Amino acid sequence: MEIKITLNENLKEKIKDESKLGFGNYFTDHMFLMDYTEGKGWHDPRIIPYRPISVDPSCLTFHYGQTVFEGLKAYRSAEDEILLFRPQENFKRMNLSCDRLCIPRFDEKLALEALKKLVDIERDWVPHQSDSSLYIRPFIFADEEFLGVRVSKSYKFMIILSPSGPYYASGLDPVKIYVEEKYVRAVPGGMGEAKTGGNYAVSLIGQAEAESKGYSQVLWLDGVERKYIEEVGAMNIFFVIDDVIITPILNGSILSGITRKSVLELLRKQGAKVEERKISIDELVAAYDDGKLQEVFGTGTAAVISPVGELMYKNKKMVINNNQIGPISQSLYDNLTDIQWGRQPGPTGWSIKV
Ligand SMILES: *Cc1c(COP(=O)(O)O)cnc(C)c1O
Repeated sequence: MEIKITLNENLKEKIKDESKLGFGNYFTDHMFLMDYTEGKGWHDPRIIPYRPISVDPSCLTFHYGQTVFEGLKAYRSAEDEILLFRPQENFKRMNLSCDRLCIPRFDEKLALEALKKLVDIERDWVPHQSDSSLYIRPFIFADEEFLGVRVSKSYKFMIILSPSGPYYASGLDPVKIYVEEKYVRAVPGGMGEAKTGGNYAVSLIGQAEAESKGYSQVLWLDGVERKYIEEVGAMNIFFVIDDVIITPILNGSILSGITRKSVLELLRKQGAKVEERKISIDELVAAYDDGKLQEVFGTGTAAVISPVGELMYKNKKMVINNNQIGPISQSLYDNLTDIQWGRQPGPTGWSIKV
C-alpha cells in the first residue's frame, strides 16, 4: 500500500523556548491517518495536515471505549540524526492490544514506514535541547456510527506528534508513591495488559486521591487479594533488595513495558542478579524493615527511569535510599538515555534512524 502525502501549506510557528514545551501541549503540522472498513480491511494510508477530525456523536468509541494507543519518542542526536527507540516493539504491542479489544490487526511494517515518513517530514519539530524529544502517539479507535454494544465495523488508525520537554525539570527527582488499597486497576482476565484508554479511566480516581494526599503516583496491587505488587500509573516497577533486582512477572494484568524489557535485557547482559517474579507488598515492607530495600524505581517511555524516594502503605511511610537516586537507577538512566540520544550504541536494532 502506498502512503499518500499531502503537505501542509500553513506551517505553524515552532516553539522557540523549548524549556516551555512541557508534555502533550503542542502538535506538529502533519498527522498520519488510515481507515478500516469491514470487507475492505485497512486502506488509504495517508499523511495529511494536522487538523481536527469530525466523527458522528454515535461513534462507538465514545460509548464503549473500543480503542488502543501507544507511546514512544524520537530523539535528536548530537550529529542531528533523528532516532527512534525500538519502534517495532510498540507496533507489536499495539497489535496485541488490538487482539484484546477485538480491533483488526494492522501491518506493522506499513505502520513503521508511515511513522518514519511522518517523523521525517516533521524532523524540524524534534527538540534540540538535551532531554527533550518528540513524543509519538499512535492510536486506533472504533468510528462506526452505531449505538449497540458490539465489535465495530470501522476504525481509524492515527499517529500524532508532540514536541515535549524534559520529564524532570530539575534533574532525576525521586517521586513519592502511594500504595493503593481501595481501588484496583486490573484483574486477571481483564485488559490490564492492553494499552487502552479504559485502564487509564479506571485509575484516575485513585490518582486524584493520592495527589490530594501529596503523592505523585499510585502503586497498584493485584485486583484479587490486593497483596501482590503490579505497577505504577504508566510505569513498571523495580525493587533492589539485598543486591537482587526484582520486578513483578508479567501476569496478564500488567502492561508489558518496552522500557521494562530493555532494562531487564541490559541488566542481564551486565550479569546483574535479576528476578521476574510475584512480589507481595508484605515482602517489600519486611525487606524495608530489615534495611534490605536499597532502591525502588519505575520504568516507562516518559520518564525512562523514575527513582522512588518514598512509598506510603497503610500509614507506613517508607523512605527509600534516603530519598536519593540510587546507583542502579542512575546507571540505568544514563545507559538508556545514552542509547536513545545516540551517544552510545545500543544492542542491534534498538536505535532506528529516520
Ligand atoms: C505504557 C505503559 C507503561 C510503560 O511502557 P513503556 O513501553 O516502557 O513506555 C507501563 N504501564 C502502563 C500501564 C502503561 O500504559
